[in-house]
Amino acid sequence: MPSYRKPWAEPYKIKVVEPLKVTTREYREQKMKEAGYNTFLLRSEDVYIDLLTDSGTSAMSDYQWAGMMLGDEAYAGSRNFYYLEANTRKYYGYKYLVPTHQGRAAEHLISRNLIKQGDYVPGNMYFTTTRLHQELAGGKFVDVIIDEAHEPQNQHPFKGNVDLQKFEDLIKKVGASKIPYISVAGTVNMAGGQPQSMGNMRQVRELANKHGIKVILDATRAVENAYFIKEREKGYSNKSIEEILLEYCSYTDGCTMSGKKDLLVNIGGFIAVNDESLFDELRNMVVVYEGLHTYGGLAGRDMEAMARGMEECVSYDHIRSRVEQVGYFGQKLIDAGVPIVEPAGGHAIFLDAKKFYEHIPQEELPAQALAADLYIESGVRAMERGVVSAGRNPETGENYHPKLELVRLTFPRRVYTQAHLDVAAYSVEELYENRKKAKGLKFVYEPKYLRFFQARFERVS
Ligand SMILES: *Cc1c(COP(=O)(O)O)cnc(C)c1O
Repeated sequence: MPSYRKPWAEPYKIKVVEPLKVTTREYREQKMKEAGYNTFLLRSEDVYIDLLTDSGTSAMSDYQWAGMMLGDEAYAGSRNFYYLEANTRKYYGYKYLVPTHQGRAAEHLISRNLIKQGDYVPGNMYFTTTRLHQELAGGKFVDVIIDEAHEPQNQHPFKGNVDLQKFEDLIKKVGASKIPYISVAGTVNMAGGQPQSMGNMRQVRELANKHGIKVILDATRAVENAYFIKEREKGYSNKSIEEILLEYCSYTDGCTMSGKKDLLVNIGGFIAVNDESLFDELRNMVVVYEGLHTYGGLAGRDMEAMARGMEECVSYDHIRSRVEQVGYFGQKLIDAGVPIVEPAGGHAIFLDAKKFYEHIPQEELPAQALAADLYIESGVRAMERGVVSAGRNPETGENYHPKLELVRLTFPRRVYTQAHLDVAAYSVEELYENRKKAKGLKFVYEPKYLRFFQARFERVS
């Protein structure tokens, strides 16, 4: 017997490669400065290991690429649409499908349809685009996630759970007629990719039913959520990912989807609902903003790739490797004493920038600075999830000051090997050792919406 533990390897092999550019520290320092210390404004060709996002950055399989050749590019009634519709029913269980070009388009349509001026939309934390569309439709987002979600080191296995008391308090306070739906996501991106339990979702459904409130799921990462349910929740270890996913969705009235995550495609999304009259409204509206209801802003080949991605992403070997790769990276940092959000989430590891850069106050944007420094030192690209991403309160104009000030390292699916992760982890550890030297940043340009994408900064002196 060998003396080391049985090794693990990625459950795929490489058929096409994309070379990476290796750069010097001086080069990267210059590029970061030119990009206004915003990693979103770097050119991808200047990045060595790109952990900016897992959105649309996955590697498609040979099966998906083969499907691209079967794109039926008819304006109306493409066969790829019907295949996607059938697979959405099969894997997610919803009756009606409206394709959109990506997740935020789905959020736009659902928000415009269901929210009236002055309504409240409770959610288990929020996603940036989801909340913005709710606000643009006249709604007010109310965070009803459990308190544990805001505590970076809390080991709760389901930090994405809805706090039922908070949900009920809101109903009492504003009245159910002012709450068109509760917006539930699993896993919760902004809480660190933390899952919601099946039991919690069931209770959300019960409480919502009592008051005639809809439950709308952000299903973008529901397969990752299903994996956590299988691993952590009593009674689910013998169920398949497919069974868990179907049960989870069955407690909701519909979903929005960004196919760019779980579904392993570079572009695509949809809305799926069970209510026929809501479907009619959405199908009508999608024509205005996206395209005819059988393509919704997508090419036929995109719908085919997404339908095939659905089949692949529920494979246990795939989703296990995807989530455990993230866990492997997280464990390396924990072992090195680097402060991260624990337990590790489904798609990303979040550095706790408040602790990492203890000497930089939140007004000096420690997470933004940390993401910039990581790129300069190593060529690894991450992103800020803190005061910059949180934006301003639309009523007061004040910066939101989120409890969590994080840097997100997000893992594209099937793109990087364990060796890449070792290099990235080493870079973070090295930065942590030299953390005392770091300096904060200040805004020099701030766009009105989703400012983190295009804002520019300079060093505070
Ligand atoms: C990415 C994402 C969205 C938005 O989808 P896009 O395709 O980027 O528009 C919504 N919700 C969650 C949880 C996401 O991760």
